[in-house]
Amino acid sequence: MSVLKDRQKPHCTVVLLAGGSGKRMGADKPKQFLEVAGRPLIWYTLNTLEHSEIVDDCVLVVAAKDIPYMQEHILNSGNFTKVKAVAEGGRERFESVWNGLRLLKDISLRDGIDPGVIFIHDGARPFLTEDMLERCLQGALESEACVAAVPSKDTVTIADEEGYEAETPNRKYVWNVQTPQTFLANVVFSAFEKMAEDLKAPNAMEQLSWITDDASVVEHYNGNKIRLIMGDYRNIKVTTQEDLLVMESFLGGK
Ligand code: C5P
Repeated sequence: MSVLKDRQKPHCTVVLLAGGSGKRMGADKPKQFLEVAGRPLIWYTLNTLEHSEIVDDCVLVVAAKDIPYMQEHILNSGNFTKVKAVAEGGRERFESVWNGLRLLKDISLRDGIDPGVIFIHDGARPFLTEDMLERCLQGALESEACVAAVPSKDTVTIADEEGYEAETPNRKYVWNVQTPQTFLANVVFSAFEKMAEDLKAPNAMEQLSWITDDASVVEHYNGNKIRLIMGDYRNIKVTTQEDLLVMESFLGGK
């Protein structure tokens, strides 16, 4: 692995999120289980992780009601040996991440593993590649905290309450943020542990609604500057029906 030069590879864990309801897909089952080109959506990322030279293990986060299905239809195949544990999803993505990180900390202590680098990745992004993982690992080792992102092809505007443009940033500074979002383990644990304190407030979900991604938690609670790492325009988040068509076409073109 060229990124490491003479360094020993740190232990690398992926927290893979599949705890959402996938409402925007409008399908009769959660989107991670939808069949695309003969495989469930979540299969593609699990398969990439399984064959990765960078990733040592994975904590999968799944909504409590979907755990039996995940177990029976995907994990029981025995093909995904790197999945060390399954955590229950939370009410929002950031709570799912916290549940995954907590479980990861517990199993690391239990197994005497020193977690080095943690990649947080959306299970709804099936086109994760080894190259992207390598760039993210390098970014985290150099800068502690990084996100995969691509320069925005569109002009992005901020709307006001009345639906008029309020502010339009110069496009040369606008990036679309993806996952993996990758951190040194101590950095991401420390930030989310502080967030978890705020999660105890009665109206926590509302108070924490500013959290858009993992980097925003690490930036806010830990003060880290977040480095942008080149992602991939193919690294789409499958959210609505048309994304399934795009996914099929990418798979067909491989
Ligand atoms: O909803 P959205 O597509 O932005 O979700 C991004 C990722 O986060 C998905 O892989 C989804 O399964 C996951 N998620 C989660 N727990 C939630 C909400 C979303 O794990 N409560």
